[in-house]
Amino acid sequence: MSSNQPPPLVGYNLYDADAPLREALEREGGSWAEALVRELGSLAGTEQAIVWGFQANANPPTLRTHDRFGNRIDEVEFHPSWHELMKVAVGHGLHALPWREPRAGAHAARAAAFYIWSQVEGGHGCPISMTYAVIPALRRAPKVAAIWEPLITTLDYDFGLRPPASKRGVLFGMAMTEKQGGSDVRANTMSAAPTAEEGVHLLTGHKWFCSAPMCDAFLVLAQAPGGLSCYLLPRVLPDGTRNQFHIQRLKDKLGNRSNASAEIELQDAWAVMIGEEGRGVKTIMEMVNHTRLDCIIGSASLMRQAVAQAIHHTAHRSAFGKLLSEQPLMMNVLADLAVESEATTVLMMRLAGTFDRAGDDAGAGFRRVGLAVAKYWTCKRAIGVAAEALECHGGNGYVEESILPRLYREAPVNSLWEGSGNINALDVLRAMRKEPDATPAFIAEVESARGADPRLDRAVAELKRTLGDHDQLESRARSLVERMAMVLEGSLLVRYGDPAVADLFCGSRLEGEWGHTFGSLRPSAKFAEVIERHRPAA
Ligand SMILES: Cc1cc2nc3c(=O)[nH]c(=O)nc-3n(C[C@H](O)[C@H](O)[C@H](O)COP(=O)(O)OP(=O)(O)OC[C@H]3O[C@@H](n4cnc5c(N)ncnc54)[C@H](O)[C@@H]3O)c2cc1C
Repeated sequence: MSSNQPPPLVGYNLYDADAPLREALEREGGSWAEALVRELGSLAGTEQAIVWGFQANANPPTLRTHDRFGNRIDEVEFHPSWHELMKVAVGHGLHALPWREPRAGAHAARAAAFYIWSQVEGGHGCPISMTYAVIPALRRAPKVAAIWEPLITTLDYDFGLRPPASKRGVLFGMAMTEKQGGSDVRANTMSAAPTAEEGVHLLTGHKWFCSAPMCDAFLVLAQAPGGLSCYLLPRVLPDGTRNQFHIQRLKDKLGNRSNASAEIELQDAWAVMIGEEGRGVKTIMEMVNHTRLDCIIGSASLMRQAVAQAIHHTAHRSAFGKLLSEQPLMMNVLADLAVESEATTVLMMRLAGTFDRAGDDAGAGFRRVGLAVAKYWTCKRAIGVAAEALECHGGNGYVEESILPRLYREAPVNSLWEGSGNINALDVLRAMRKEPDATPAFIAEVESARGADPRLDRAVAELKRTLGDHDQLESRARSLVERMAMVLEGSLLVRYGDPAVADLFCGSRLEGEWGHTFGSLRPSAKFAEVIERHRPAA
C-alpha cells in the first residue's frame, strides 16, 4: 500500500518554474542576466543546496570572545554550510551586481537572482543585502568609497578578520539600534569624539542589535559634536590591529538562526565619517532604501517558496479518495496563496526596476512612496502566507524536515527590521507630506491601468477620496497604506500579470469578495489554471 507521502521537491530549476518572475525580469529590462538567474535557479533546486540551508540553521553561529591565551578576539564561527551559501551568493554578485554592471535592468536582475537564491536559505541574505545596500551611502564620501568599493564589488567570498587591503573581497553591515530605541534613532547615545585626523572620530558606546558581526566594516550612527552622524567602522585597522569592537553576546532568535546578530560595545573605536556631520540619518537612509527593497524581495522569495511547497505537496497527497490539490476548498486556498505570491513578485520587480531608472524624476517620487507601501504590506503578508502554506502540508508542515517551520519563523523579521510595521506606515505619510511629487506619482502609477478593469477603477477612485481625508491620519496609517498596497498590486497585475490571477485579485482584494483568511475567494473556474501556473515542475 502506498504511503501517500509526496516526493521531496528537489531537482528542478526554480527560475524556469516561476512564470511571474520570468515575465517580470524581461519586462524590467533584466533579460541580459537570465543565464545567471537560471543558473542560480538550477543550483537552488539541488539536494546539495537544500542541505546547506538546513545545516546552516541546525548549527547556528557561535561566539568566541577570547582565544586560548585569553586574548580578546570577538569572532563568530559558522558551520561550513553557511560559507557555502555565502560563496554562491557572493560568487553570483548578489551583493554587488548593479555596481559591477551599472546597466539598464541591473537592479531588477539582481532582485530576481536574490529572490531565487534566498529560497534556499534566508539568513545569509542579511550580510549580502547590507553589502549591496552600502554603496550609495558610501559614495557620500568619495575618498573612502575609492578605497572600499573595489573590495566590495569583487566576486570573492573571503571570510575572516584581516586588514581590508589584504582581502579578496569584503562585506558590510550596519549598526543603528541601541537599547533605548531602534525606531527613534535620534535617541542614540553612542558618542563620536573628533581626532586630529580629518573625518576620523573615536566611537564609544553600545549597539543592541548588530547583525553579521563578522563583516569587515559597518555603517554606524553616533553623536558627533555637530549631531547624529554616520561613520564607517572597520573591524580591522589598516596596520592589522583589531578595532575596539567587542561582541557581548549573540541573540538567541526566533528565526534567522543561521545568521549571527550581536550586541556590541565600542571603546574608542576608530571610524571615519561618511556624509555631513549632523546628517547621519539622511546618509544612512541611502543604505536603508536598498535594504528595504531587499525586505520586499525576501518576503516575495519566502512566499514563493512556501506556495511552491504547498502546491507540490497537495499535488501528491490524497485524502477522501482524491488528491488534495483537486479538492475544491484546498484549490481555493492554493489559488489564493498563488495570487498573493504573484502580486508580491510583480510588485517587487516593479520597485527594483525603479532603482534602475533612478535618474527619472517621476520614478523617484513613485519609488519613495511605493517602497514604504510595499515594505509595510508584503512583509506582513509573508507571515500569513507562510502559516497557511504550512497548514496545507498537514502535520508534515509542522515538522522541521519540511522547510515550512523555518519559513514560518523567518517570515516576521523582514517586517521588523529597516523600520517596523508602524514606522513604515508612518513613513508613507511622511513621504506624501514632505515630497510634493510622491502622491501624484503614486496615483499616476495606479491610474496607468485605467479602463482595464472596472473594479480597479472603482478602487482607485475610492483611494483618491481616502487620500484627501486628513482626519486622524496617523491612527489610520495602516488601513490607508494597506489600501494603497492592494490598489498598486491590482494595477500591476491588471497590466502585467496573468489575466486569471488579476481577475481573482481584483474580485477579492479590491472588490471585497473575500474573508479574513486565505481560501475565502469566491468560487471560480480559474483556480485550476492559477495553481498550474504556480506549480513547481519537479
Ligand atoms: C534579527 C534582527 C536583526 C537585527 N539586526 C540589526 C542590525 O544589524 N542593525 C541594526 O541597527 N538593527 C538591527 N535590528 C534591530 C531592528 O532594526 C529594530 O529592532 C527595529 O528597528 C525596532 O526597534 P526597537 O527594537 O528598538 O523597537 P521600538 O523602536 O521600541 O519599537 C517597538 C514597536 O513600536 C512601534 N513604534 C515605534 N514608534 C512608533 C510610533 N511613533 N507610532 C506607532 N508605533 C511606533 C514599532 O513599529 C515597533 O512595532 C535587528 C533586529 C532583529 C530582530
